[in-house]
Amino acid sequence: MENKVIRMQYDILLTGGIVIDPPGNLNDQFDVAIADGQIVDVAKNIDPQKAVRTIAVPGKYVVPGLVDIHAHVYVGVTTWGVAADPVCQTTGVTTIVDAGSSGWATFPGFSDYIVGPAQTRILCYLHISGIGLVYGPVGEMLDLRYADPGKVADTIIENRDLIVGVKVRQGSAQVGDNGVEPLKLAIEAAERADVPIMCHIGAGVRLPEILKLMRPGDVITHCFQGVGDSILDEKGRVIPDAWAARQDGVIFDVGHGGGSFSYEVAQQAMQQGFISDVISTDLHVGSINGPVYDLPTTLSKFLHLGLSLEAVIEKATIRPAKAIQRDDEIGYLKIGSPANITVLDLLDGEFEFFDAHRKKFVGHQKLEALFTIRQQTITECVTA
Ligand SMILES: [Zn+2]
Repeated sequence: MENKVIRMQYDILLTGGIVIDPPGNLNDQFDVAIADGQIVDVAKNIDPQKAVRTIAVPGKYVVPGLVDIHAHVYVGVTTWGVAADPVCQTTGVTTIVDAGSSGWATFPGFSDYIVGPAQTRILCYLHISGIGLVYGPVGEMLDLRYADPGKVADTIIENRDLIVGVKVRQGSAQVGDNGVEPLKLAIEAAERADVPIMCHIGAGVRLPEILKLMRPGDVITHCFQGVGDSILDEKGRVIPDAWAARQDGVIFDVGHGGGSFSYEVAQQAMQQGFISDVISTDLHVGSINGPVYDLPTTLSKFLHLGLSLEAVIEKATIRPAKAIQRDDEIGYLKIGSPANITVLDLLDGEFEFFDAHRKKFVGHQKLEALFTIRQQTITECVTA
């Protein structure tokens, strides 16, 4: 009699969770099976006998690995930088995008010392300023000589695996009297390399002037910021320029940060139907210990602002993946694709949240990451 070799069909099986995958139109209870690092089945009642390891997640949410497209992780070199792994691995973020901490002159160090050793997948926008965001107190584009669009484009072309676009900050603290000139230089570099830009908006530069330069697929970050020119006029109405930009395909991203998310602006804009496309944190040294903390906390604020769970998941998975033109790789749970999964809990209770102006509001739901799966690796999100 022949000895039968029993080969398990699946390495990991998640059972009983609620799968939310907006691109696949999934929002229901399904099991998810993983073999050889790939999602091999998403179906009702997959047989646990066929799995080496079964993790029961009844009542929990199984979503694509979270994607945060605005953070600052060039720790040790820039005044903004926080270490990526400790925050990402505890909060379910499997892909994080550094928003311009490095410029072309400091990118090699970013690639070697930050991206290389990290467990988390790190991508970046390259700053139009060659020095990037090395020193927060002095604006990086007060002097236009810091911008060399040719060098920026060349660096992107040589590093397309890591660089997703060009970053520029358009507030008077960053650009002085240079108006939208840095933005024009950023667009010049982006056109040469055929990538989008991410433009920070803030006080001191007229927003309509910025918006009319933005191209389809470019990202406005800090879209609900409340200092100086916001997307609202003096009567609290969303300005026509913002609607027009959105109509043209400009992407609006939250980029909460330490000073760039006004609860009131978000509430008023959202009441008028102006919802951000992407929800990101702008995590840095001045926001990670509050008011931002992390991406699940930021998403929870938008549950409080009235978005559905499915909508906030979409704005932290497939929508940011599209904004960085990586939606062929990340942001969904498709059979046959590498496993990149976050499992979330949705807690009920009374939770205090703060906007960037330290305005307090109390929400009744809070998202918390339980664990992630990237290919074969399960990372528990241990919370204190
Ligand atoms: Zn930022």
